[in-house]
Amino acid sequence: MSDRILSGQAAIVTGGGRGIGAEICRTLADAGAAVAVTDWGRYEGARQLAAEIDTRGGTALAIKADVTSLEQMSDVATRTKEAFGGIHILVNNAGITRDNLVMRMSEDDWAAVINVNLKGVFISTKAVLRTMTKQRAGRIVNIASIVGQIGNAGQGNYSASKAGIIGFTKSVAKEVASRNVTCNAIAPGFIQTAMTDQLTDEVKEKMLAVIPRGRFGLPSDVAQAVLFLAGTGAGYITGHVIQVTGGMGM
Ligand code: NDP
Repeated sequence: MSDRILSGQAAIVTGGGRGIGAEICRTLADAGAAVAVTDWGRYEGARQLAAEIDTRGGTALAIKADVTSLEQMSDVATRTKEAFGGIHILVNNAGITRDNLVMRMSEDDWAAVINVNLKGVFISTKAVLRTMTKQRAGRIVNIASIVGQIGNAGQGNYSASKAGIIGFTKSVAKEVASRNVTCNAIAPGFIQTAMTDQLTDEVKEKMLAVIPRGRFGLPSDVAQAVLFLAGTGAGYITGHVIQVTGGMGM
């Protein structure tokens, strides 16, 4: 267990049912935050994780919500405030891929990825912002990607959504900095999760060759960066993008 530096804080994590989001939930809960674990397709995973956090002595609530729905994310905000007395941390983690070369990419695959990855961040942020600005306290951490900064063949939709998140992060940071609300992004590289397990061994070998650190990232590598940005020591950092890539993309 890390020090309980987030005691008394309430967090919402989107896409917390598995992968990086689940590890972020565990890490924030271990640091003392009460966590609303939200997911859509993996709600059962969110429910199990909330029970696991309870068993570990933490506080968590599982909520089924689609990040593209303002109604559902507003309900998440209301229920989190009712249960935990405020909303201090939002981690916009939910994301999807629909990879293809641009020449072959359908409009549906373009729209689906932009909708979940980019509109979802806007909707979830909008749902908590009034509470955070009124509280004069808030930390928003958006999970972007290194490909939003350097591009990636076969991920035109995904890299555009992640680049969009970075621009959005900086705009929100400027809008709410005076209210003691920070907004930062994390750009992970290749992190071992179900999302990257789909890649072929050949692609994985090529990626490993360009990671100076010599290993793929773990969900915990991303979660530790979130913990830092959510903690008191990061109060003067806003509009920033932290790469968690093992040096890939420098
Ligand atoms: P996962 O697919 O394992 O987890 C993403 C979660 O988001 C899933 O539980 C998924 O549920 C959920 N989700 C998808 N759509 C929605 C929606 N509309 N509303 C609510 N929840 C939704 O991915 P990772 O853990 O690998 O990735 C987490 C984040 O990190 C993503 O934003 C991803 O883009 C980013 N990232 C990941 C990298 C990696 O190497 N893994 C690298 C860089 C960035 P379901 O699948 O059932 O729809």
